[in-house]
Amino acid sequence: MIDFSPDPEFQKKVDWARAFVKEKVEPLDALFPDPTAPYDRSLKAARRILKPLQDEVRAQGLWACHLDKSLGGPGYGQVNLVFLNEVLGATNWGPVVFGCQGPDSGNSEILARFGTDEQKERYLKPLLAGEAYSCFSMTEPRGGADPTLFTCRAELDGQDWVINGEKWYSSHANLCDFLIVMAVTDPEAPPYERATMFIVPADAPGFEIIRDTGVFTEPLAAKGGHPYVRYNNVRVPDTARLGPRAGGFMVAQSRLGGGRIHHAMRTIGLIQKCLDMMARRAISRELRDGPLSRKQAVQFDIAETWIALKQFRLLVLEAAWMFDTEQEHEAREIISALKVTSADIAQKVVWKAMHLHGALGASNELPFAHMLMTAAMLGLADGPTEVHKSAIGRRIMKRYAPDPNLFTEDHLPSKLEAARAYYAAELAEPDQ
Ligand SMILES: Cc1cc2nc3c(=O)[nH]c(=O)nc-3n(C[C@H](O)[C@H](O)[C@H](O)COP(=O)(O)OP(=O)(O)OC[C@H]3O[C@@H](n4cnc5c(N)ncnc54)[C@H](O)[C@@H]3O)c2cc1C
Repeated sequence: MIDFSPDPEFQKKVDWARAFVKEKVEPLDALFPDPTAPYDRSLKAARRILKPLQDEVRAQGLWACHLDKSLGGPGYGQVNLVFLNEVLGATNWGPVVFGCQGPDSGNSEILARFGTDEQKERYLKPLLAGEAYSCFSMTEPRGGADPTLFTCRAELDGQDWVINGEKWYSSHANLCDFLIVMAVTDPEAPPYERATMFIVPADAPGFEIIRDTGVFTEPLAAKGGHPYVRYNNVRVPDTARLGPRAGGFMVAQSRLGGGRIHHAMRTIGLIQKCLDMMARRAISRELRDGPLSRKQAVQFDIAETWIALKQFRLLVLEAAWMFDTEQEHEAREIISALKVTSADIAQKVVWKAMHLHGALGASNELPFAHMLMTAAMLGLADGPTEVHKSAIGRRIMKRYAPDPNLFTEDHLPSKLEAARAYYAAELAEPDQ
C-alpha cells in the first residue's frame, strides 16, 4: 500500500521545525544572506547565533536526519523527510542549522558507506557533529557532464598516491576542511573503471585554489563559493583512498540518489514560497480597476503553479516511498525525473513569481535573484537536464522489443484484420 502521510509523531516535529524556522532561521537568512555564509566560519556573529540553534535541533532529534539507520542516522525514512525538507527548502541557512547541507550530506553518506574506521573517526565524526565542512571535487573545466573525460590523475609512488590535475566548481573548497576528489588511477581500464576517490585535507601541500569562482552577478574578486582548484603533486597515503581502487564512479553514483531526492524535497519548499508570495502580491496590489488577483492571467499563473506543485510533490513522495520500501534501484528513473522536474518547475515558477512582482521582483529587495540562481543550478549540478532525460528515455525503451511486423503493433488496418479473424464466427452469424 502506498501511504504518503507522515507518521503523527514526526508531524509534531515538522510542526516544531516550521515554527522554529520562521522565528529563528529566517532572521539568520536576513542578517547573513550570502549563499556561502552558512559555511563561512570567519563570520563570528553568525556562528554565535548558529550554535544554540543547532543544539535546539539536536534536542528535537532532527539533526542530520538524511542518514539512514544503517548508516548511523535516526532513520526516519524518506517519506517523513519530504515534510521536513520542504520546510527547509525556502531558506539559505536551514540545511546548516539542521545538519543536512550539501555537499556535506552526500559526503557523509559515502564516508559512512565506504569509509574505513579511521576515516570515519577523522572525517565523518566531525562532519556529522557540524564541526567540519567538506567539498566534493569532481567536475573539471574540460569535462563536467561526461565524467569519462576527466584527466586529473593519481599515480602510485610507493605507498602514496600523487594527485595532479585541475577541478572546477569545487563548491566550498575555500571554506572546507577536506575534499573528496575523483582522480584517474587506471587510465587503460574501461571508462567507468578508471577513477578512484581520495580524501585530501584542505591544507595538504600542493593543493591550490586558482580562484574563487562565484555565480551570476557576484563580483569577480569576491569569495565565490565554487572554486577552480589545482592539485600539484598532492601526496596522500593509500589510507586516504575512499572505497576500492577504480571504484570512483560507483562511489560517486551512490551519493547521488540521496542528494537528488533531498534537493527535490527542498525544491517543494522553494515553489511553495513562490506561490505564497504570488498569491499575497496578487491580492494586495491594486490596479485602477481592482486588485491584480482579478486578472484572469494572474489566476491562471497561480492555478498552474499550484497544479504543478501538487504533481511534483506526488512525484517526490513516490520516489521517497520507493526508497523506504527498498526499491531504490527501481527508483532510478523517478530520481532522474525529479532532477528534470525540479529544474523545470523552479525555473518556470520563480520567473513567474518575480515577474508578478514587477520592478520590486527584479530589485535586490526581494529574494528572486538567489532563487533564479538556485533554479538554474538545479538544471546543471549533478548532471544537466538533457543527460537525465536521455537516461530516462533509454531505460524506458529497454522495456520494449522491436516490432516484428513491417507496420507497428498499433497499425489500424492490421488490427482490423486481426479483429475480424478473432471474431469471425460471431461476425458470420446473421443479425437477429
Ligand atoms: C552552483 C553549482 C554548484 C556545483 N557544485 C559542484 C561541486 O560541488 N562539485 C563538482 O564536482 N561539481 C559541481 N558543479 C558542477 C556540475 O556538476 C556541472 O556543472 C555539471 O556536471 C555539468 O558539467 P559542465 O558544467 O561542465 O557542463 P557541460 O558538460 O559543458 O555541459 C554543458 C551543457 O551541454 C549540454 N549537454 C552536455 N552533455 C549532454 C548530453 N549528453 N546530451 C545533451 N546535452 C548535453 C547541456 O545543455 C549542458 O548543460 C556545480 C555546478 C553548479 C552550477
